[in-house]
Amino acid sequence: MAADTELRHRGALGENTPAFDKLNRPLRDLRLSVIDQCNFRCTYCMPRDVFGADYPFLPSAQRLSFEQMVKLAKAFALLGVEKIRITGGEPLLRRGLESLIEQLAKLTTASGKPMELALTTNGSLLAAKARSLRDAGLNRVTVSLDAVDDAVFRRMSDVDMPVSRILDGIEAARAVGLAPLKVNAVIERGVNDHQILPLVRLFKGSGVAVRFIEYMDVGGADDWSKTKVVTAREARGIVETEFPLTPVLDGEPTGTAVNYRHADGGGEVGFIASVSQPFCGSCSRARVSADGQLYTCLFATHGTDLRPWLTQSASVEQLASAVRGRWIDRDDRYSELRATPRRLSASGKVYPMVRMSLVGG
Ligand code: SAM
Ligand code: SF4
Ligand code: SF4
Repeated sequence: MAADTELRHRGALGENTPAFDKLNRPLRDLRLSVIDQCNFRCTYCMPRDVFGADYPFLPSAQRLSFEQMVKLAKAFALLGVEKIRITGGEPLLRRGLESLIEQLAKLTTASGKPMELALTTNGSLLAAKARSLRDAGLNRVTVSLDAVDDAVFRRMSDVDMPVSRILDGIEAARAVGLAPLKVNAVIERGVNDHQILPLVRLFKGSGVAVRFIEYMDVGGADDWSKTKVVTAREARGIVETEFPLTPVLDGEPTGTAVNYRHADGGGEVGFIASVSQPFCGSCSRARVSADGQLYTCLFATHGTDLRPWLTQSASVEQLASAVRGRWIDRDDRYSELRATPRRLSASGKVYPMVRMSLVGG
């Protein structure tokens, strides 16, 4: 390890300098889950037979308050975080979310830029909330939508709601200027792979970028098998049967998607190859669950409880120091190791996995 890398890793360059983990990855993104409940039961995330009426969701008293979340955001900003993605469960189920966004929107990053604020949602409540979210200071929205066909949508989300409600939400977000707007579709072989082309057709030329995500074996995907994964390469091949694409070469280095442009200028299509071509090497994301547990990998088995530092008696700097201590010890790269028969991290930890709906994808 070079001398400054060694110093950075040990945090010896100061508590308020960017945090780097054992694999020299900086901490840049925070995914903040505001609620573990959801009004959908997507079969690949919250299957109804597991997340039934008696599922022990967090009681509201155990969820972090907005005040605690703002303190968290300030601590992560000190450590180099430049973007916060609000997620869940379904984040728009959290009452008064606009007030949290308003407070987060006032934060600046360590380099003095405004904190970038994004939200991932299933879109069901977006038509009603797009304007107030934008007014509160939200910058961008990603809507999860796996199908254009109503029956396929209902089957995958396992909810009695027409797909038009999500499309109305997307249109409302676009109309109020929440851009760039993205639509994420998880593709499961034999279930919605025939929806790839209809999704591209629908959004081409609308300013909405569609991204296809490989179906992952995250906690909640109880039915996962490798044969159900439609790889990014395969999905791109399907798109290119109808739409010629050219690669976008100026994407963010830590972004998860490989982006293409319609050759005739109809906007972008992205592919997220989390299973077939993992991007652990540039993974700069930390996740905090709605009850204040810090997870350093989507596939982590347990988190670090940050609540002792979320009391009045601990300062933002003390909280930042606790997060730094965990981050500099991080060596997770589950997706790169997935190919091996046992689920091990580089340090030999075994991974049974946390639920996606708790840590927010
Ligand atoms: N409820 C919100 C939504 O659906 O956008 C936010 C939380 S959800 C857990 C975040 C993202 O995780 C969604 O885009 C969803 O499609 C993705 N996701 C959930 N389970 C997945 C799986 N097994 N494989 C790939 N992506 C998954
Ligand atoms: Fe809910 Fe999002 Fe999970 Fe679907 S993917 S069940 S909308 S949390
Ligand atoms: Fe990051 Fe873990 Fe996913 Fe790798 S498996 S990209 S380390 S969250």
